[in-house]
Amino acid sequence: MNETSEYEIRLANTVAILEKIASEFTPAVFASSLAAEDMVLTDLILRRQLNIGIFSLETGRLHKETLAMLDKIRATYAVDIQLFKPNLAAVEDYVRQHGINAFYDSVDMRKECCRIRKVEPLNRALKGKKAWITGQRRAQSATRTELAVQEDDVAHAMQKFNPLADWSEDDVWHYIRSNNVPYNALHDKGYPSIGCEPCTRAIQPGEDIRAGRWWWENPESKECGLHVVDGKLVRIKAI
Ligand code: SF4
Repeated sequence: MNETSEYEIRLANTVAILEKIASEFTPAVFASSLAAEDMVLTDLILRRQLNIGIFSLETGRLHKETLAMLDKIRATYAVDIQLFKPNLAAVEDYVRQHGINAFYDSVDMRKECCRIRKVEPLNRALKGKKAWITGQRRAQSATRTELAVQEDDVAHAMQKFNPLADWSEDDVWHYIRSNNVPYNALHDKGYPSIGCEPCTRAIQPGEDIRAGRWWWENPESKECGLHVVDGKLVRIKAI
């Protein structure tokens, strides 16, 4: 079996998963970070007009290149991505008590910032849904090597799907280039992984894909805390 046919099989599997979600798990939503993987899923969902909502967490600390993706998506697909923003009072409290960039001070301060700017808005976005979708891939980091395509998200009481779990970085870029999918300009500036501006940096050739995210922390800490309940990491059961 050659490389192209393996890619085609992965693509067909991903389309089948998305169609299954759209028919069996409504209402379902896709959480887009506006990075390359998420543009693959956005393209697959919108071109097929699948019944899956798309939203993004507008943390208030995103790069201008990431925010520009919203206009690029509107221009390409005539669709507005729904934005969920943090509670303003919670952001103001955090900044007043700890400072605007306190996430550099400790893992706890970083997780509290992520809780306010990402976790709480995510919980709002997922309310009342049967399933949610991410663009996470196993090859992205040490914390994702066991990522399953379908997981039982106990914390959110719904199914979580990662339809690109077995895709390689080459697969992602092959899809984007062969389908003229718009992508975040940061990828051409050495950013394989896209997050908030102060917590994301470009990486050098040969560095781990996630090395540019929260680079001052240990690799085991490098997740958004999007599955944290009452301050504890909640494990998600693979299906
Ligand atoms: S990634 Fe950084 S700026 Fe963004 S919510 Fe987390 S700690 Fe805050």
